[in-house]
Amino acid sequence: MTGSATAVPSASVPPGHQAGPLDDARAQLAAAIEHLGLDAGTHAMLATPRREMTVSIPLRRDDGSSEVLIGHRVQHNFSRGPAKGGLRFSAAVDLDEVRALAMWMTWKCALVDVPYGGAKGGVTVDPRAYSQFELERITRRYTSEILPMIGPEQDIPAPDIGTNEQTMAWMMDTYSVSVGHTVPGVVTGKPISLGGSLGRAAATSRGVAHTTLLALEHRGHMAERSTAAVQGFGKVGRDAARLLADAGVRVQAISDVDGAIWNSSGIDVSELAAHVDATGSVHGFSGGEPIDGSELLELEVDALVPAAIEGVITAENAPRVKAGIVVEGANGPTTEAADAVLADRDILVVPDILANAGGVIVSYFEWVQANQAYWWREHEVNERLTERMTDAWRNVLDYSHAHEMSLRESATCLAVARVTEAHRLRGLYP
Ligand code: GLU
Repeated sequence: MTGSATAVPSASVPPGHQAGPLDDARAQLAAAIEHLGLDAGTHAMLATPRREMTVSIPLRRDDGSSEVLIGHRVQHNFSRGPAKGGLRFSAAVDLDEVRALAMWMTWKCALVDVPYGGAKGGVTVDPRAYSQFELERITRRYTSEILPMIGPEQDIPAPDIGTNEQTMAWMMDTYSVSVGHTVPGVVTGKPISLGGSLGRAAATSRGVAHTTLLALEHRGHMAERSTAAVQGFGKVGRDAARLLADAGVRVQAISDVDGAIWNSSGIDVSELAAHVDATGSVHGFSGGEPIDGSELLELEVDALVPAAIEGVITAENAPRVKAGIVVEGANGPTTEAADAVLADRDILVVPDILANAGGVIVSYFEWVQANQAYWWREHEVNERLTERMTDAWRNVLDYSHAHEMSLRESATCLAVARVTEAHRLRGLYP
């Protein structure tokens, strides 16, 4: 990295620069550093990824032509253990986004006390525009390019937007063939038959639903009398909506990239899931009225669950958010400027590093089970997940009360303090 020893990447956005997730992540870190009274050297260390690799991925298309895609792997921190974080396939991926997501993984792992640092990977590709054969070649070439950086004790990828358990199976196989023996611990979120954990697929959603119910209770709402809107019907939103509905919450609106639907008496989530499986999107579902995707964020519901991408609640639309609670199923859905608006309006924001930590918690369980070659039953996984989520929620809530700060500030401070403590105990080498 360039810059002097104490240079801290600026937390303020220079004129003309389009603010993105990295600006939000850096601003959150800067606030925690200030609150904790940490020095500029520590700030610089935590603002700067430890390792980054950008690779080109030459791809042979099914029609015989070829093209080159770009991928990244960023390891933000290793102070508390191997780096850990998902791999994203999306047309919107760029290095700064991956840097932000890697930093958030460090805080997430520290906050829920799993012994990992943080990392993230991304390939700039719209997976919907490529065949399964092409996606396999992209995954395998990307894995082989970043191979020196990953490993069960080094950096452990997992699914994220645009990737799934099949992607993890290809990564695991490519790594294993290269080192000459099968290494199930190199990735998590694998298919069960390859050493995946029961309960991993729905773990992020389970954590999101659980924290939503805790937040509703905290604000004096009964689940059975509450309403919610869920943005996103993929890996996180789909099961989060189902679990909220199972708990009695009326899920009045759900969206995906192709559209949004609304039903004041509550959407039948399993019927919607069947429709999406049959048609590929929520568009055209007869169990609700079509609405505009942006309207969903401004509905009069008790809980709003953005479970898609970064930067959807902005300074522009935050004044119109009517939900009393925002639960961040996605990473970074609320911009820094929007956060301030929501806080002023006393809207409770359950931050991403708490709300969506269920995925990495069960990734950790998967890694532990693989290391011990002893498999837990699904109810054991789910009970341990709920216990960790509840503990993290209480810690964040208590700290926020004690220090009169938002849940995001509290969660970030707790996480940054843990990472800093590990770094202090290990000391600087040389
Ligand atoms: N991609 C998920 C996240 O953002 C899971 C990461 C993991 O399990 O390593 O938390």
